[in-house]
Amino acid sequence: VVDITTPEIRSRMMAGIRGKDTVPELTVRKALHWRGLRYRLHVRDLPGTPDIVLPRYKTVIFVHGCFWHYHDCHLFKMPATRTDFWEQKLKKNRERDSLHQAALLREGWRIALVWECTLRKAVKAGSSVALDSLVDWIKKSNDSIIEI
Ligand SMILES: [Zn+2]
Repeated sequence: VVDITTPEIRSRMMAGIRGKDTVPELTVRKALHWRGLRYRLHVRDLPGTPDIVLPRYKTVIFVHGCFWHYHDCHLFKMPATRTDFWEQKLKKNRERDSLHQAALLREGWRIALVWECTLRKAVKAGSSVALDSLVDWIKKSNDSIIEI
């Protein structure tokens, strides 16, 4: 089987997006910090180990890589080889995300899902609109879940 994915894309898929301290995650952290919000990182004793936790607002933030979390957007491309394997794996990731979210909501947490594509677009455009609306939601909204 020939893997037609370039090494660059492969390494981005395997390492860059998934781990801690990714560029999208740092973008969110910087925005929160700059606006005076304090947070904890990668809290393991909460379902799904949320990337960012704001205890004061009882809010967790997941910064989702579009590949690993199977986002229906332009950044997502199903690998052309071992497609069945990837499809199964990514579907399982989505299912796991849903379970974690349900558990967090049951425990009274509010959830912000921030997608990599949204952040990339914002950074590229030099726009803070998306992150401003995230911070507004954290501080003022009564809704239990937001996706940006
Ligand atoms: Zn996306």
